[in-house]
Amino acid sequence: MPEQLVKRVVIAGGGTAGWVVAAALVRHLGPLLDVVLVESEEIGTVGVGESTIPTARTFHAFLGIDEREFVRETGSSFKLGISFEGWARIGDRYIHSFGQVGKGTWMGDFQHFWLHAREQGYAGDLGDYCFELQAALGEKFATGENAQINYAYHLDAGRYARFLRGFSEKLGVRRIEGKITTAEQHAESGHIDAIVLESGARVEGDLFIDCTGFRGLLIEQTLKAGHEDWSNWLPTDSALPIQTAAVGPALPYTRAMAHTAGWQWRIPLQHRVGNGLVWCSAFMSDDEAQQTLHASIEGEILVQPRPIRFKAGMRRKVWDKNCVAFGLSSGFVEPLESTSIHLFMIGVTRLIQLFPFAGLNQPLIDRYNELARGELERIRDFIVLHYKLTERDDSSFWRHCRDMPIPDSLAERIEMFRENAHAWQTPDDLFRIDSWVQVMLGQRLEPKAWHQMGQLLGDAQLRGALADLKGNIRRAVDGMPAHQDFLDRYMA
Ligand SMILES: Cc1cc2nc3c(=O)[nH]c(=O)nc-3n(C[C@H](O)[C@H](O)[C@H](O)COP(=O)(O)OP(=O)(O)OC[C@H]3O[C@@H](n4cnc5c(N)ncnc54)[C@H](O)[C@@H]3O)c2cc1C
Repeated sequence: MPEQLVKRVVIAGGGTAGWVVAAALVRHLGPLLDVVLVESEEIGTVGVGESTIPTARTFHAFLGIDEREFVRETGSSFKLGISFEGWARIGDRYIHSFGQVGKGTWMGDFQHFWLHAREQGYAGDLGDYCFELQAALGEKFATGENAQINYAYHLDAGRYARFLRGFSEKLGVRRIEGKITTAEQHAESGHIDAIVLESGARVEGDLFIDCTGFRGLLIEQTLKAGHEDWSNWLPTDSALPIQTAAVGPALPYTRAMAHTAGWQWRIPLQHRVGNGLVWCSAFMSDDEAQQTLHASIEGEILVQPRPIRFKAGMRRKVWDKNCVAFGLSSGFVEPLESTSIHLFMIGVTRLIQLFPFAGLNQPLIDRYNELARGELERIRDFIVLHYKLTERDDSSFWRHCRDMPIPDSLAERIEMFRENAHAWQTPDDLFRIDSWVQVMLGQRLEPKAWHQMGQLLGDAQLRGALADLKGNIRRAVDGMPAHQDFLDRYMA
């Protein structure tokens, strides 16, 4: 058997990223590794990141986490999608749901049928043909053996990290409390040999995982991996989170409400609501942001806001030498589609698959970096889409977004949809065709033409199929409990 050269894994940082990585490594490679996590209570975590996408369920199943226990411990509620309000025009609303929209055929996707039917005057709204979207609108939810529904969670970030800490420590992760002051590097290779704490203690390792948040203590401050700036495509750079008491039943979706220089989130949990304003400092002052946020929140304020600054972009190398970065230290595109937690869940899965037991190897590191980059670039494009397709003319921020240059990869997608209503996904794309279509149509991108499969099917048959689909969804949603009632029963 080849000698195992990488055995001691040191995770720097215990925010959501640090504990997600720790939990996955110890759960799946535990007997082969010695995993240590160093975090500092004094520094604390970023304290946001409460809306997820359905891959979180897959990840929890991968760890063997019991859903009911997780929902109870983290104060979670269920999420069926995101309601985008005021994005294309003031007063507009569309839901990007996690569901499948209608049914396509091998010849083409559902939007081609729908566009034909709409032209003929007998189509309902696109959302009439999506179960999850109708459940969201009706504020309904149910899961269980008989309910086929695609959903994610709204969770309390602080409680989630504590939950995963308990999970990881039980399986053998050793936690060290302390502030990291420096990292010692090998004189020739530049690899990190150890991190040094304020107390003077040294923690040695073979592989270091940087989960220290935006500061990127190891990947950037020590290894200088470099940062690629995407702020010309994603101009927001500030956020102000605030927690409030719930004033009504929890909605089964996140709200993303556009304002004059960015947008505002509302994330309902069991015990409170997470809110926050995201804005671009070149178009809105901090004082204006404070006022905008305070004017639009509901319920008693539980925690006073403190601004967070960020720059969209990614590390040029998320794996450099013997250090792999996850979470905010690896890069950040703003939270509009709740993708950050997903990225380190999928990232650690990949690290487990490519784990360098026999020592570090450049082609393996390059492969990992290539996959991570491709993934984040496609997510970036999907988020830029929401800004670029605005028709808003009421502020200089929205005019800037409408007129800004965009990546060629996104321009091609927009062009293809505008000309022929074609959307596409690669096997490793996070966002599926349904997502692209919901957002492109929701943002009022009008295709000039579409596939003539609707005409081939014939209007009588298509009209009947659409009516059946809509009716079946309506009946299924009518039979579901309200989300809040389901949640109360689920927790009882
Ligand atoms: C405004 C905003 C909203 C967001 N919303 C979402 C969302 O809805 N959904 C989503 O998926 N993602 C969201 N994100 C991203 C999400 O918050 C992060 O991906 C997630 O919280 C992980 O953060 P982290 O663990 O990388 O960093 P942090 O939470 O910042 O953790 C860093 C850790 O490193 C430790 N540390 C740092 N320096 C030292 C040191 N010198 N010594 C010892 N320890 C140290 C800290 O103590 C802490 O434990 C959002 C981000 C922002 C900014």
